[in-house]
Amino acid sequence: MERRITKEELRAAVNEAYERFRNEKSGRNAHYIPYLAHIDSELFAIAVCLPDGEIIEAGDSSYRFGIESVSKVATALLVLKDYGANTIMDMIGADATGLPFNSIMALLLEKDHPSTPLVNAGAIAAVSMVRPVGDERLKWENIQHNIDELCGSHLPLIDELYKSESVSNHNNRAIAWLLKSYNRIYDEPEMSLDLYTRQCSLGVTTSQLAVFAGTIAGSGVNPVTKREVFPRQLTNKIVSMIATVGFYEKTGDWLFSTGIPAKTGVGGGILGVLPGAFGIAAFSPPIDAAGNSVRAQKAIAHIMKRLGLNVFSGDRVTIAEKQTVEC
Ligand code: GLU
Repeated sequence: MERRITKEELRAAVNEAYERFRNEKSGRNAHYIPYLAHIDSELFAIAVCLPDGEIIEAGDSSYRFGIESVSKVATALLVLKDYGANTIMDMIGADATGLPFNSIMALLLEKDHPSTPLVNAGAIAAVSMVRPVGDERLKWENIQHNIDELCGSHLPLIDELYKSESVSNHNNRAIAWLLKSYNRIYDEPEMSLDLYTRQCSLGVTTSQLAVFAGTIAGSGVNPVTKREVFPRQLTNKIVSMIATVGFYEKTGDWLFSTGIPAKTGVGGGILGVLPGAFGIAAFSPPIDAAGNSVRAQKAIAHIMKRLGLNVFSGDRVTIAEKQTVEC
């Protein structure tokens, strides 16, 4: 079925979701990274990036927060681009773990693969593959440049978050060295861990995250800069990874109930992709037990339901300037 959604309908759905959930009180800021525990829990934003580059926003959409695990999507794309999908399948994998993002158990169970670049083990392995292997400075430049291109503007490092995460990332250090023992890390483990920690500590706004999502929805072309950031044939690869593990152990529940592939981060950000239609992002620091922002997930779920959209519906969605929905 052809579906036409007008910009007004989208705007109304975004505003409604914002109003409905701005007083939501459940969830708690991530505490295992001290910096995140102190972020204002009231912050809340939603942004949608349309194919023409227009951004529909509500709330604190220019507040800069830690991108955390959403950065895994960017680096997964970088290594997919550099090595090709088959090599990534071989060296990392693309499987759901069904376990928490930082699970050591997942790695023990699947020691032949770190599962997917979208959980900590696979993300550290992905960072280790970033070229040029062995050159920390150039690797960092490439990681940062790639995220900037996906978002359409620069993401600065939040120094305080980086320091806070660096002194508390013992679990991730264990993962990096376990990867080493399985020959599943492809550069120096401590350097790979540090680069991973740094990419998680980049500051992103909800609008930038929406543009990132919009670039994936636009099959690799950034809707704002109009630049091709990744080849269009990688779109189904990255969207399938997001759909498989984006909400960690809650991914099946999320996809079943909302119909939108989305990736969360413990900083409170969520990036959602409706391929061919739009990219959506939401942010609010309090997270649930699985590490997913409570307000942000409710807001995105509400917008999808309100507009009757679902990636599995078979509908072809276009965004129209005016007019109401046509079936
Ligand atoms: N930097 C965080 C960690 O590695 C990211 C986790 C997340 O956002 O899910 O623990």
